Amino acid sequence: QFPFGRRLPCDIYWHGVSFHDSNIFSGQVNKFPGMMETVRKITLSRAMRIMHGLFPQEYNFYPRSWILPEELPLFVAEVRVMKDSNPSWKPTFIVKPDGGCQGDGIYLIKDPSDIRLTGSIQSRPAVVQEYICKPLLVDNLKFDIRLYVLLKSLEPLEIYIAKDGLSRFCTEPYQEPTLKNLHQVFMHLTNYSLNIHSGNFIHSASVNTGSKRTFSSILCRLSSRGADIKKLWSDIISLVIKTIIALTPELKVYYQSDIPAGKPGPTCFQILGFDILLLKNLKPMLLEVNANPSMRIEHEQELSPGVFENVPSPVDEEVKVAVIRDTLRLVDPQKRKRKDTHGLVSTRGVSVAGDELPAPCQSLPSAVLCCRCQSLEQAPGASQELPDAPPSPEAALPSLCLKQVFPKYAKQFSYLRLVDRVAALFIRFLGVKGTTKLGPTGFRTFIRNCKLSNSNFSMAAVDILYIDITRRWNSMAIDHKESGMCLQAFVEAFFCLAQKKYKSLPRHKQVESLIELCECRLAALRGKRLLWGCQG
Ligand code: ADP
Repeated sequence: QFPFGRRLPCDIYWHGVSFHDSNIFSGQVNKFPGMMETVRKITLSRAMRIMHGLFPQEYNFYPRSWILPEELPLFVAEVRVMKDSNPSWKPTFIVKPDGGCQGDGIYLIKDPSDIRLTGSIQSRPAVVQEYICKPLLVDNLKFDIRLYVLLKSLEPLEIYIAKDGLSRFCTEPYQEPTLKNLHQVFMHLTNYSLNIHSGNFIHSASVNTGSKRTFSSILCRLSSRGADIKKLWSDIISLVIKTIIALTPELKVYYQSDIPAGKPGPTCFQILGFDILLLKNLKPMLLEVNANPSMRIEHEQELSPGVFENVPSPVDEEVKVAVIRDTLRLVDPQKRKRKDTHGLVSTRGVSVAGDELPAPCQSLPSAVLCCRCQSLEQAPGASQELPDAPPSPEAALPSLCLKQVFPKYAKQFSYLRLVDRVAALFIRFLGVKGTTKLGPTGFRTFIRNCKLSNSNFSMAAVDILYIDITRRWNSMAIDHKESGMCLQAFVEAFFCLAQKKYKSLPRHKQVESLIELCECRLAALRGKRLLWGCQG
């Protein structure tokens, strides 16, 4: 800890809440600039909506959401249309304040007219979302899954998933929402911070009982009931990769603003908490992404009325210690040095178990499934390394609990990274270093350099498009610090241009074609400039 500042550079900086130090010029920081903003409920919902618009089949794991207050009329209208077309549809919605956490301010409604408009929604925007009424239950209780994901690098994209996570249980038996039970938070909300206050909360010394368990213990249980847990685990990996693909465009804009290319700066990594709910048919649904997941391995126990003590929590310890330990192993600067001096990497450092499943469930008959993650996968000894390499200090450690999923599965998912390429165009025309918004001149230059203006689309029309979209996005923005066109506004303008130019194609093909056209024209322009440079 450096309460009074730090004088010497470090290898690894561990920031408590967010990336905030502009005086770091080397090493690695455990937070990405802008991550907190990128995973807020509204921003996440917008990012998922863009991806759903392009790839509806691939992005069907996030509940349908509307942003309040600006989309209230749209929400009311869409629900009315859906109810008219299907009178037996009796939906429930969940209203969640933007930037809230631990269930704070969340409530369920049966009808759009039940949204609490009194003052708060104007000052505190929110997301209203379809409520998942039929979650998978265990012991008659609703539960969610907290999985830890390491975003090790943004460019190139590197993602790791922890092989085990937590399952957090409600403390009242679940019933589908009715007007009578809508307010029962211990039945509908799985937040640990809420349920801990229920008289029914069970602290257990075992990882497979109680109100907080390991995810692997749930998988074991499902497997013993004959569920296809291999498919479930691979669906979860897809969900995580797709979600991060949806978040990277915005993250890249923040990144270049805080750590401009060419300027000495640190690299970043970050542990994220993914909250996932399973449907009855075992389909995983994303609830939210946490930029700052709790890493506490203790919980408070009330010894006598009003007297609390911190006691170790075995479940948290089992999962979280492994996540932190292995994150440090993966970003270990000493490992990089060893690699440089000996020309080799310990295979353990980067590889993952061939099997897709969390360790406890690998190749074991369901009857003997157990939850001793580390004992099942033995770390290969130092003898596996080249003979003249010094023994790695890692030899004494358990094998990695973090499994690399990207670039490992890059081939299957790279076609989804269209908005990333749009963001690359956006960043290219930002001009001034350190900014996140595109000015009118930057937008005009983009149109001109990519030769997108013609007799049907004059430069005056370009200016109108810029003004219209930018004004609307800025009126919805939470921060009004910078004027200009934000990434989402640019994406909207880009989709609009793509639609104009390639009307007959499906949405994602329109966007892909326009990206290819722009990239091609910019490459040609660059070639020409280089040639002129040589001749000059
Ligand atoms: P917070 O950040 O305040 O915890 P979440 O989005 O995680 O907000 O929601 C809190 C809890 O509400 C979740 O843990 C889950 O139990 C429940 N929940 C959230 N969204 C939904 C949904 N769409 N359907 C069903 N339950 C939900």
